[in-house]
Amino acid sequence: MELAALMGLRPEPAAGLLMMLTRRCPLRCAHCSTDSTMSAGGPDPGRLLGFVDSFTPGDRPEVLMMTGGEPLLMPELSAELAVRARRAGTRSALLTGAFFARGAAGRPRRARAVIPARIRRAIGAVDHLSVSVDAFHEREVARADVFRVVHEVLDSGTSVSLHVVGIDARDPYLADVTSAVREAFDDRVPMLVNTVRAVGRAAGPAGARGEGPAPIDPLRSGPCSMAAWPVVAADGTVVACCNQDVVDRRPVPAHLLLGHVAEDDWAAVRGRTLASPVLRSVRTGGPLRLLARYGGPKARSAGGAGYCAGCRTLSEHPEAIAGATRVASGAAGALLDRRAARRRREAGPVEYVRRHGCAAFAELVALPGTAP
Ligand code: SF4
Ligand code: SF4
Repeated sequence: MELAALMGLRPEPAAGLLMMLTRRCPLRCAHCSTDSTMSAGGPDPGRLLGFVDSFTPGDRPEVLMMTGGEPLLMPELSAELAVRARRAGTRSALLTGAFFARGAAGRPRRARAVIPARIRRAIGAVDHLSVSVDAFHEREVARADVFRVVHEVLDSGTSVSLHVVGIDARDPYLADVTSAVREAFDDRVPMLVNTVRAVGRAAGPAGARGEGPAPIDPLRSGPCSMAAWPVVAADGTVVACCNQDVVDRRPVPAHLLLGHVAEDDWAAVRGRTLASPVLRSVRTGGPLRLLARYGGPKARSAGGAGYCAGCRTLSEHPEAIAGATRVASGAAGALLDRRAARRRREAGPVEYVRRHGCAAFAELVALPGTAP
């Protein structure tokens, strides 16, 4: 499964499930949005397996995306989740920081395999592997080490992409690393390019850029496709989007809470994702439009705090929730939601990344050397 196919599904409500296998990670990237360390916790593996066992051929996500922390600290769990997901017809992808590759480039070329056997088996079980590469990450794992891993995965037949992060679109690092990847892999390795967001360790001095949020016009700000795929957080809570504050902070705002892997199955989580009038409104019109159109002056000023910051306050504004319930409940709301998702899917993965990633590098998500 290529990166473009994955990104093509991203706007579709409940077409994917993001699952944080652990918060632990042996690396110490300065921009880490999850603030991962080796002493951090994670969900109960048995509960994650049980949740994936609730997928059925008739009711399942198209793709299970495993993240962390570092999911390959638990290679057997990653592989088992991928195998069980596939039984229901769900494909899987995994995002790694490639901690196991440190020093790989220094090994003799004839020692071709640089990926340890347990990890190789886990990578062989998934349909797509994404590897992080960025300036902060290169201080932990050298670019040449990551490239050795990518070569090995490509040779094994598993689709692979790079998840690249820069400070902003003008960051010279982005032009440098993306050209190096295109040249080294002859356009067979697509890239998802993003810029640093001020959350986790990136909120500290290493990641901060000293810029305030740009002012937002609530009636012009757009819909949020991030409210499409549920996310299993490190404590097993299932939330409606991957905004790091939503994933990390407790309590979760009521309109963004979808359940818990200890109590709910996929059918329940999918049902809530699709049926919630607030999530439908966030996906079709955007949170700030909801605050501006139906909320009072307090709600409108909450929207001034920023796009996601405003969204997180929606539950505190009953008049905005009532507005969403009026316009987005029932069959009409469902139809509107489906139409909006179809439009975004038809626009394709490049357009999606142009809107949600780093626009200047959006075309790298579907490079000519990769399968369509
Ligand atoms: S590899 Fe990822 S999870 Fe690990 S420290 Fe770096 S950014 Fe954080
Ligand atoms: S706008 Fe709301 S639903 Fe979308 S990513 Fe931000 S907090 Fe999540």
